[in-house]
Amino acid sequence: MSKKLAKFRSPAMPSLSKVPTSAKILLLDDDEVFLSLCKNYLRKSEGLNFDLIMVSSLKRARLALVMDSFDCVVVDYTLHDGNGIDLINELAEDVGDAMPGSIVLTGDNGGNAAIDAVKAGASDYLQKASMTKSSLCRSITNAIQKSQLRMMHLSRVKELETINDTLQRRNEEIQRFYHTVSHEVKTPLTAIQEFVSIVNDGLAGEVSDEQKTILAYALESCDQIKIQFNELLEMSRFETGKMHVSLEASKLHEVFNHCIVAATPSATAKNITLTLANKVDLPSVMMQSSRIIQVLSNLIGNAIKFTPDGGRVTVDAELVDAGDRVRLSVTDSGCGIPAEDCDHIFERLYQVTPGSDLENEGGMGLGLSIASQIIELHGGRIDVKSTLGEGSEFYFHLNTLRLHQLDDEAA
Ligand code: ADP
Repeated sequence: MSKKLAKFRSPAMPSLSKVPTSAKILLLDDDEVFLSLCKNYLRKSEGLNFDLIMVSSLKRARLALVMDSFDCVVVDYTLHDGNGIDLINELAEDVGDAMPGSIVLTGDNGGNAAIDAVKAGASDYLQKASMTKSSLCRSITNAIQKSQLRMMHLSRVKELETINDTLQRRNEEIQRFYHTVSHEVKTPLTAIQEFVSIVNDGLAGEVSDEQKTILAYALESCDQIKIQFNELLEMSRFETGKMHVSLEASKLHEVFNHCIVAATPSATAKNITLTLANKVDLPSVMMQSSRIIQVLSNLIGNAIKFTPDGGRVTVDAELVDAGDRVRLSVTDSGCGIPAEDCDHIFERLYQVTPGSDLENEGGMGLGLSIASQIIELHGGRIDVKSTLGEGSEFYFHLNTLRLHQLDDEAA
């Protein structure tokens, strides 16, 4: 260590539960009379006992700082062998965060000294001419408390940084785990699906109707597991920043048709009316169609899941912002979402009433989180309006090709 006060021992880290009863003070002044005045002032003070080391030169002060640790350093600005501020600067450079309290005593040239003291980061400065016993004691006590609070704050920040690093590492481990497990399960699952299909199709011998029903359940369960593992994989791609979208001008009605056709069997099974409200031609929008299909399918799937038999689910799109954007929405007449949950349902793994019958229909609380991240990659945001017992509307906006072209021209 090349530092001048390399051996300086910083005061022990204070703890909030312990209020110090004594403080070690280094007092540097080359005026013997002033030193003894200070000694007198600090002999007995309310609350703190001062253990005072007095020195009359910078040289001796440096030596004292190497030999011992202090809670507060009080230095005169002008000394016969230099400037008291130098000592404070050296100390700050050497001990950094562990800097004890520091006070600069100023003479007549108080203005400059005060500015230098502030620049050097001293805790306080006192004009010698107007200094009293109480102002000196108060200034020292404040300087010590300030430095202790700063140290406690810094140590807390360091602790939190360490915790944050650990959490980030754990999170990465979990993401890697999700990824590996999802991959490992997918291959045998596909094999199971193939074999069950072979049996179901009668290719391995005759199958009774009862057996067919059981095999159909098995295939459905395989599909469900596949969806859930795909969600886990998607989530880990988002978490590790590996998810991207490539936006291109695409037709919305093709996306809608795809989603409606795919969702019709489950809507029909619950006697739910699934409609596309706006059938007029919409302009091309900037999107990755496959991803918007994924988002809308998730919203429509949820709408059907959380709407009782005989209800309604409506998909809509309307031009807004003078044709710059399209608002897409999925509205249902289902159970609705409590107001306090609306802010959280886009969080990873969040479910309103985990364990309820509806939640058990499948799903891990990842769908909306993935959907909202996909829309963010499109430059938008999914939101929800919901009334308990009446239904919900999930909506988001996409930029039209027109806005994209205007942006390009402006750039
Ligand atoms: P899951 O796969 O569990 O459905 P999601 O992320 O898609 O996960 O949804 C999170 C939670 O938000 C659901 O478990 C449900 O509680 C609530 N939710 C989502 N969509 C609706 C809806 N249309 N109506 C009522 N609740 C909903």
